[in-house]
Amino acid sequence: MAPTLPAYTIKVSNRARQVSLRVTRETGLVVTVPAGYDIRRLPAILSQKVDWIQDALEKVSKLPLPIKKDLPEKLHMPAFGQSWRIVLVPVAINRTSIKEGSAVLEIRGRVEDHQAVIRVLKTWLKKKAQAYLPAWLDRVSRQTGLSYQGLAIRDQRTRWGSCTAAGNINLNMKLLLLPPDLVEYVIIHELCHTRIMSHSLKFWQLVGSYYPEWRSARKKLRDISRQLPI
Ligand SMILES: [Zn+2]
Repeated sequence: MAPTLPAYTIKVSNRARQVSLRVTRETGLVVTVPAGYDIRRLPAILSQKVDWIQDALEKVSKLPLPIKKDLPEKLHMPAFGQSWRIVLVPVAINRTSIKEGSAVLEIRGRVEDHQAVIRVLKTWLKKKAQAYLPAWLDRVSRQTGLSYQGLAIRDQRTRWGSCTAAGNINLNMKLLLLPPDLVEYVIIHELCHTRIMSHSLKFWQLVGSYYPEWRSARKKLRDISRQLPI
């Protein structure tokens, strides 16, 4: 039986003399081929190297993600009328902590470790989300008559929310960083999933009956996802 090949990207290079493989955490498997190369030959070549490819993919999947953004100077929570300035205080201790002042978040400790700073910011944001989002979900649930079983706040990388078949709703803690109309939209969207799981026409009609501007909300969400501070 032929081994299953992972997905890969083909790069044509004028300088390449032969086929070469490269695996990184960000790109997955990239196959570079010389210009004019017949790519129909690739599956056979890759099949011979499938063990090496699987090993390499597994190895990079365990690497920490590089920080792609600089640390934010501020966290805006427009739906809650809050804006937090972030102040970093380097202290030679082996932990990093966060303290709320008035409109200031003071982060002390190993602040040169940006990942540690992001971690404490995320922990803080999650607590805020746990304090603020349940009441919002409850209110929209009452207004729409769409009931749900439970709520979990998560740090999801790619989704604003989700809903299980049992009616449990997950909301992304980063909703706190969105304007109020978009928070409202995400919550209505997930509550509608308690009735209809799929993104069918019926589903969007249901969403539209509570939130007519859902199309523009979806577009705004996509745009804003690329500019999140953390
Ligand atoms: Zn959905």
